[in-house]
Amino acid sequence: MVIEAEVYDTKPEPDVFRTAVIYDDVFLEHDTGSGFPENADRLRRLTKHLKEHPVSNQLLWAAPDEKIDPVPWIKAIHDPGYVADLKRACEAGERQMHGSADTPISKRTYEVAAKAVTGSLTAVDLVMEGRVNNAFAALRPPGHHAMPANAKGFCFFANAAIAARYAQKHHKLERVMIVDWDVHHGDGTQSIFLEDPSVYFFSTHQYPFYPGPSGSPEITGTGAGKGSNLNVPLAAGGGDKSVVKVYQMQLTDAFRKFKPELLIISAGFDAHEADPLGDLGWSSDVYAELTEILRALCREQGHERIVSLLEGGYSQRGITEGVRRHIEALEAPPKKP
Ligand SMILES: [Zn+2]
Repeated sequence: MVIEAEVYDTKPEPDVFRTAVIYDDVFLEHDTGSGFPENADRLRRLTKHLKEHPVSNQLLWAAPDEKIDPVPWIKAIHDPGYVADLKRACEAGERQMHGSADTPISKRTYEVAAKAVTGSLTAVDLVMEGRVNNAFAALRPPGHHAMPANAKGFCFFANAAIAARYAQKHHKLERVMIVDWDVHHGDGTQSIFLEDPSVYFFSTHQYPFYPGPSGSPEITGTGAGKGSNLNVPLAAGGGDKSVVKVYQMQLTDAFRKFKPELLIISAGFDAHEADPLGDLGWSSDVYAELTEILRALCREQGHERIVSLLEGGYSQRGITEGVRRHIEALEAPPKKP
């Protein structure tokens, strides 16, 4: 009887993983042509580097959840006409969306971009269901320049914005914050939530720089969204110190006032000192430092819910070391206050 009772009381082992990494080989199938900075080799290098590193064993490697249909969630943010146009252009074998060299496409681009959305929503599910504390999606194409009705700047679907809306509609959250540390301003994400007080958008970015005036600190939201958009421009060459200070001051203030129930990071690695596009000169270690600040702020709110989505990052060191330092800091046991 005693043995039976013990067996009856035995619960499944809880997941020991703190951090999930979402990845699928299909992300390599968005073909941007030779010499283009946003290419499949970025992810090949990243996954090889992670798998060869001891941290890999600490991670829950997961594929995008096939049970999720991303299309309704894509259409919750993007104009259905644009979604149909992208699908048609890819199937027709066209090589550029809207005739722009900044948005090269291939036969499978629509499918891959939709799968990147599925990967983003899978990350939200794993975190919201408590399977892990936080998740990083190693995906492409990136999303933060994508506009409601057009592709832009290597981006097709707004992964972070779609994930934020999904967390609100599917997981019933009220307040989601998107923090964007890509070297470029996340103009797509900003435009989607400019009038929406329920999604706070915070961005540091090199300025003046691509994509232009959208990154101005004077843009703080409109209508009901006034005060839920914060742009902190950084001068070229600012290095680690300037961004850490911004995270300790402006970001910390904004976070404590807004009290997000979920934090989404638009995690680009093109502010890295080795990046061929950006000039902010950040070290690999600063990605761990920023991550620790964000984790500590979440813990103040009584949770650990961080979903991090890959955006840019075009150097070998930025996309390997930078991402790994970020993931190591996501995975590390929480520091005592
Ligand atoms: Zn970028």
